[in-house]
Amino acid sequence: EIILAIETSCDETAMAIVKNGRELVANVVASQIESHKRFGGVVPEIASRHHIEQITVVLDETLAEANMTMDDIDAIAVTEGPGLVGALLIGVTAAKSLAFAHQKPLIGVHHIAGHIYANRLLQEFSFPLLSLVVSGGHTELILMKDHGQFEVIGETRDDAAGEAYDKVAKTLGLPYPGGPYIDKLAQQGKDTFHFTRALLNEESYDFSFSGLKTAVMNTMHNAKQKGEQLSSEDIAASFQQSVIDVLVEKTFRATREYKVKQLIVAGGVSANKGLRKRLEEKFANEEVELVIPPLHLCTDNAAMIGAAGSIAFQQGHRAELDLNANPGLSLEKYAKRNKNIPS
Ligand code: ATP
Ligand code: MG
Ligand code: FE
Repeated sequence: EIILAIETSCDETAMAIVKNGRELVANVVASQIESHKRFGGVVPEIASRHHIEQITVVLDETLAEANMTMDDIDAIAVTEGPGLVGALLIGVTAAKSLAFAHQKPLIGVHHIAGHIYANRLLQEFSFPLLSLVVSGGHTELILMKDHGQFEVIGETRDDAAGEAYDKVAKTLGLPYPGGPYIDKLAQQGKDTFHFTRALLNEESYDFSFSGLKTAVMNTMHNAKQKGEQLSSEDIAASFQQSVIDVLVEKTFRATREYKVKQLIVAGGVSANKGLRKRLEEKFANEEVELVIPPLHLCTDNAAMIGAAGSIAFQQGHRAELDLNANPGLSLEKYAKRNKNIPS
């Protein structure tokens, strides 16, 4: 089947066409980063306005890239949540309008299910699998025993990894979003500060990054008061090392405990060079197969929504035209809903 997918949960207006859940036919992402940069973060009203301006442009571009018309499309998948309500609404409204006008089935997709399924464009899933989701708003370890089924076995108790990256970057005076800038600086520095490795020795698979963020800020503040000049490279490297140590170690333990066949890495922070390298080293001699998306599928895109939407479509899940934006939709609720629908 051929799915047109729409993603507008944050500051990317994105559409894609995905064939049979695994083949990417077209992928268009209109980023708004430049418009939000001077505010140091995403401004919801500005995001919504951009989505409105971009959505038909992106649709035309996506169909043109695929050399298709709406007649070629079998179903429309859209991110229904979580995300910014005003931003989600633009995508959901566009999807409903297209579904109604062209009489196509409609599928609501969870944004994080999308991040995970981006990997299925590379590699077929084999269950049970573990997914490490590290994004701007989420840091979770998710166990999947089957398609569409998500069990959260660990999550952050405060900041998400990407959020910590962006906040620390701001303190260092780096542009938004700061993740890629810290990543770059970190490669030129050393872990000289040895910041805390939060919850590393706890048995749970939960994470915590707000203490680390505060430790970095305090270190910089104290140095400033003493008139000392700290190396941004070493700060970045020390922060990144702490994040990676905890992420990789806890993920490693979970792959062993749950005896998974695959480790699927997902979300914007999976673009991090240091994290990718450490995961590759750690799992080089393990039986579990490591799957990490290419850089353009790590951050927000609609290809991932098409990939997740394809599974929901095949499982018989359909949304009605009263589908609404669902800014707080949990992965577990989404999984339960998928389960209730006979295929
Ligand atoms: P969510 O998916 O949880 O709703 P989101 O959609 O805003 O949040 P993503 O688009 O998946 O998040 O990822 C964006 C995040 O990824 C930002 O916090 C950004 O700083 C971070 N990021 C991107 N590239 C890198 C990198 N190379 N190193 C570290 N972080 C990165
Ligand atoms: Mg984004
Ligand atoms: Fe995202």
